[in-house]
Amino acid sequence: MIVACPHCHAGNRLDATRLGDAPNCGACHAPLLNAPLTGTADNLPELLRHSQVPVVVDFWATWCGPCQSFAPAFAAAAEAFVGKALFVKVDTDAEQALAAQYKVRSIPTIAVFDGGNELERLAGALPSGQFKAWLMQFV
Ligand SMILES: [Zn+2]
Repeated sequence: MIVACPHCHAGNRLDATRLGDAPNCGACHAPLLNAPLTGTADNLPELLRHSQVPVVVDFWATWCGPCQSFAPAFAAAAEAFVGKALFVKVDTDAEQALAAQYKVRSIPTIAVFDGGNELERLAGALPSGQFKAWLMQFV
């Protein structure tokens, strides 16, 4: 699958079975997975199906104030849980079909998937510390 590097936005071909190996970006050589990836209709189904670690998806939109406030907590979690979980952001305006497919009714919605199955979701943001505590039950 192709994912955009969260640091330089270069497209990287990613082998989903090696997501636990802390791959680096082929262009800027920064770690690919220590910051949230951008989920799209092209890469999200494959990420969810093949990831060896839980996938945490933040469904958000640029105009959503609570989403903007939550973004640093989500980014901090991506750094704290690198190698243990994969963090993906889905812009629900850019990816309306994904938002519909995953029945996102309000944003932010944060959903955790393992082995392609949704384990649990949060409707609404949590403070950073509480978010990390919530994640601990899945990783
Ligand atoms: Zn890069």
